[in-house]
Amino acid sequence: MRAAAEAARGFMPPDEGLALHDAALASAGGPLLEVGSYCGKSAIYLGAAARSLGTVLFAVDHHRGSEENQAGWEHHEPDLVDPAVGKMDTLPVFRRTIHDAGLEGTVVAIVADAPTLGRHWTTPLGFLFIDGGHGPEPAHRDYETWVPHVVVGGTLTIHDVFPDPADGGRPPFEIYRRALESAAFEEVSATGSLRVLRRVAPGI
Ligand code: SAH
Ligand code: MG
Repeated sequence: MRAAAEAARGFMPPDEGLALHDAALASAGGPLLEVGSYCGKSAIYLGAAARSLGTVLFAVDHHRGSEENQAGWEHHEPDLVDPAVGKMDTLPVFRRTIHDAGLEGTVVAIVADAPTLGRHWTTPLGFLFIDGGHGPEPAHRDYETWVPHVVVGGTLTIHDVFPDPADGGRPPFEIYRRALESAAFEEVSATGSLRVLRRVAPGI
């Protein structure tokens, strides 16, 4: 499983992926949800944990790529564009990745704009991973949309948190600070740019 995760396309260094997996394994129970699946790399780390826990991972992505994945941006991969549509489509690669990892029974793909889905979401979450759009508006909206669903005792993980602006964009760091400043979350661990927090009180 670890080899499959490391071989999968995406943006998750091995040490951070293992930390993500371990955080999910130690979570409160109840379903796991990730915002931002791309080609399924983080979904393997989380899906393996979900399977061990006897629960599922909801893997939410519109599969059209973030701003930073579009043509001309830093993280663009041209072969992920659907030429018939002229837009990115990571869903076929995601499906293949999850199939090959043997996780089709555990990873539930939800093809959706995360805030649109969030407006209709009612299921409490034991674990949330935020790794969707990293611009100011998407990151703060994902925070406001999804963090209220995390149960007390549940886990919030945020990717691409860079305390030093020289290392990367601010919004993931800003929502990490928001969680801590809300006093609803306490930090559990930090591995690379991954932050693991535990909910200790309601609110955001
Ligand atoms: N976790 C992945 C990387 C995610 S990249 C890995 O392990 O490799 C960020 C993803 O967020 C992209 O696939 C993009 O399509 C998705 N995304 C960005 N904005 C979104 C939105 N509003 N709704 C759903 N998905 C979104
Ligand atoms: Mg990321």
